[in-house]
Amino acid sequence: MSLFSAVEMAPRDPILGLNEQFNADPNPKKVNLGVGVYFDDNGKLPLLQCVQAAEKAMMEKPAARGYLPIDGIAAYDNAVKALVFGADSDVVKSGRVATVQAIGGTGGLKIGADFLKKLNPQARVLISDPSWENHRALFANAGFEVGTYTYYDAATRSVNFDGMLADLRAAEPGTIVVLHACCHNPTGYDLTPEQWDQIIPVVQERGLVAFLDMAYQGFGHGIKEDGAVIGKFVAAGLNIFVSTSFSKSFSLYGERVGALSVVAADKDEAARVLSQLKIVVRTNYSNPPTHGGAVVAAVLNDPALRAQWEQELSEMRVRIKAMRQTLVDGLKAAGVQQDMSFITQQIGMFSYSGLTRDQMVRLRDEFGVYGTDTGRMCVAALNSKNIDYVCASIAKV
Ligand code: PLP
Repeated sequence: MSLFSAVEMAPRDPILGLNEQFNADPNPKKVNLGVGVYFDDNGKLPLLQCVQAAEKAMMEKPAARGYLPIDGIAAYDNAVKALVFGADSDVVKSGRVATVQAIGGTGGLKIGADFLKKLNPQARVLISDPSWENHRALFANAGFEVGTYTYYDAATRSVNFDGMLADLRAAEPGTIVVLHACCHNPTGYDLTPEQWDQIIPVVQERGLVAFLDMAYQGFGHGIKEDGAVIGKFVAAGLNIFVSTSFSKSFSLYGERVGALSVVAADKDEAARVLSQLKIVVRTNYSNPPTHGGAVVAAVLNDPALRAQWEQELSEMRVRIKAMRQTLVDGLKAAGVQQDMSFITQQIGMFSYSGLTRDQMVRLRDEFGVYGTDTGRMCVAALNSKNIDYVCASIAKV
């Protein structure tokens, strides 16, 4: 008998499974709106000019690849702190932030989860209903019991804010609350600044631990605007966790560049927290990889490259917004009776289209238009060439 004879086949990852199905689909008109990846108007994954420039400069001065420090490249960690909290913010200047380079945003979440498990093994985790698929699995695999807080209300196509507040008010002290800092995945509905102002006192009064997942900084309203929510939590004096991803904002998906930042009460506490985060990293994968972090650090720390990045990021953001409007207009022109203008109120890469599971399956099987069964579509994969076909297909289902 084999050691593995009782091992069960794990379910396929819902999104990556969809990708496999898409790749195998012979339909020449097929469109992949399943995975959360930004494509340009030619349907190509962009390689940003700022990234190419940074890589060219690196090629001209080839560097040996020693081990990085456990917490990553210092210039990278400092650039992350400046981006997330503001270079001149008191919290950064006073040394209260502990930041480690991580393997993508997922890695940042996982380092935070493992550290939190040691800190408070009994804590529960609450994620939004619905949330990014991996939130539940990631925190559950770190040993936590994972529940949800009310978030999306399908009937009104908006956030059920009263429900969310009530759920947070009912949470036990110490509960870890995973919040989407901006561009909520999968719904595309964010809290307003005024709503955040109501969430923060509840987090504070109930003694909850806010873990802000910021995978899309710059894709919503702008880099500063999207990051403003972090400043609100810091201003309230809360000890928070922030995971950062550069997968989308630098189009560096495969390089796995992200970070975890933890805000402590003072410099000494931050140093102790950092020492524990380093243990988590050391015992998982020892230290992070070099290339992606070096590219992002080079871009963020060079004024000209930084300006170029901001320009390229804003072009991606603007293109997605334009596609939302084109989608709404195209659906109307294709004969969809229902008012679909809610799509322009959503923000970020995704749209919760309101289509049912059956409609999504038909879209996939009959038209080769791939979104998730929940009705989520990646607006960032629409372009001037595929939009008419997508609109016509949706109109038919
Ligand atoms: N968090 C959310 C909400 C996401 O949507 C994603 C990616 O889709 C991530 C985290 C993970 O980002 P990364 O690919 O950098 O690990």
